[in-house]
Amino acid sequence: MSDCIFCKIVAGQLPCGKVYEDEDVLAFHDIHPFARVHFLIIPKQHVATLGDCTPAHEKLLGKMLLLAPRLAKEQGLDAGFKTLINTGRGGGQEVFHIHVHVFGGGDPVSRS
Ligand code: 5GP
Ligand code: ZN
Repeated sequence: MSDCIFCKIVAGQLPCGKVYEDEDVLAFHDIHPFARVHFLIIPKQHVATLGDCTPAHEKLLGKMLLLAPRLAKEQGLDAGFKTLINTGRGGGQEVFHIHVHVFGGGDPVSRS
């Protein structure tokens, strides 16, 4: 996926503020945060949307979700956080490489 910005971040062709990395996933700060802490958890493998996932992605999706509370706590979100997965154009998705938004801190935040 040569035209995918998140694949370019995974490949090291674009910089990011890395929060976490292992062999399967990468987490980095959102470039336009809408809370004091706002980072994205993405798979290294290109998958466009949650709607493109199959049972083969079950373990990967579980890993991404289980990382959210761990990384949120490491980022200082002791009181809790929000998670968001926009899916498809109708779901407000702008980058078509699946990602979990994790955000919180400061005043309570919401996004519809
Ligand atoms: P979506 O609307 O697809 O769920 O969210 C995409 C998110 O990716 C947005 O919050 C946007 O700020 C973030 N984003 C887009 N391009 C970049 C980038 O090049 N670097 C980083 N760190 N975040 C990005
Ligand atoms: Zn990609």
